[in-house]
Amino acid sequence: MNKLLADADICVKCGLCLPTCPTYTKTQNENESPRGRIALIQGYESGQLSDAKAVRAHIDNCLLCRECERVCPALVPYSRLIDNFRAQFQADNKPSFALSILKKVAHNKTAQHLAQSSLKLYQGTGLQKIARLLKLPSVLRLDKMERLLPSYNAPTTFAEHYPATTACKGTVGLFVGCMGALLDHETISAAITVLTAAGFNVAIPAQQSCCGALDVHSGDTATADKLATINIQAFANDSLTAIVTIASGCGSQLQEYAQAEFADQIMDISQFLVQVAGHLPFKPLAETVCLHTPCSLKNVMRAENGALQLLQRIPELHITKLPETIVCCGSAGSYMLEHSTMAQALLADVLDAAADTQARYLLSSNIGCTLHIQAGLQERGMTMEVLHPVVLCARQLH
Ligand code: SF4
Ligand code: SF4
Repeated sequence: MNKLLADADICVKCGLCLPTCPTYTKTQNENESPRGRIALIQGYESGQLSDAKAVRAHIDNCLLCRECERVCPALVPYSRLIDNFRAQFQADNKPSFALSILKKVAHNKTAQHLAQSSLKLYQGTGLQKIARLLKLPSVLRLDKMERLLPSYNAPTTFAEHYPATTACKGTVGLFVGCMGALLDHETISAAITVLTAAGFNVAIPAQQSCCGALDVHSGDTATADKLATINIQAFANDSLTAIVTIASGCGSQLQEYAQAEFADQIMDISQFLVQVAGHLPFKPLAETVCLHTPCSLKNVMRAENGALQLLQRIPELHITKLPETIVCCGSAGSYMLEHSTMAQALLADVLDAAADTQARYLLSSNIGCTLHIQAGLQERGMTMEVLHPVVLCARQLH
């Protein structure tokens, strides 16, 4: 039987997934629900529906937040179904200009250096202000990407090895990802500080590459497989206690690599620090934080409690969480660039709820969510600082 139909036919159409689906909640349209999308795939694959363009539009509107997978009693492999359906059309796919740039930067270290220098020029010379005034990003159809740019910081070069700064308990590999290395040096530095303080040597293999999430979810399985091979080789070291990730979007992709010995080693950094690292001496912090749980951390890595338990170790910290009804912030890899209306509607819910907490910090474990939320906060004139939980931990270390 057709592999897609075999997966789709597991669905018993109970509808339990509908109220949890962000695109269904916003539209109340069955075609924008998990059950509806599965039915569309069944209709197309069995020849009852022939309008591929219309079917693909509904499939492409899915965020792949996988909340439906978490609640499905029949265990429909929903993500695999969507990825395989999209892969059928890979040859016809024309990625947007913004997505093409994003992929080039993600896959190529030279392009990353170029992007770093361009960001310095763009922000350091006041060009950004002039371009925004003249609405150039919008004319060039790069406005959705341009709004996500963080403030430029001088690049830090990371070594391949950092020794433990307390009694050594082992060595961990640190996966920094393509965007983390380019845009999130603060989180990488904080991860090194906290892991070494917890007694672990940190290995950051220079050969590591993009995790491939952008590729696999846009149907480009060949590129995703190549990237997986590079990363598996980069971390091929028998002595690692774990391979720690600082972005759950990457961590969830790495955990789904076909090679089980590699995938089983992947742990979110907060989960690792709570479950493996032991005691860390934190100074008190009498502030309120708002904890954002990325859907990739909750629904794929199943490590949502790690960040909360880690932050609970900081004395006097008041932790608030976003309501359970908020499933996905709308960033979802390249989704925020290609489906901005839905992405902005979902972001608005996050910003409203975050504003209610009156927190000083919003903490998120995924760089994509961080950039999307940070841009939204700035546009609303909100001064909440967005950080990875491990950055706050590094600041509070004795
Ligand atoms: S919960 Fe699972 S079985 Fe029920 S409709 Fe949704 S996908 Fe199908
Ligand atoms: S993955 Fe998320 S957006 Fe897509 S159908 Fe499931 S719940 Fe809805």
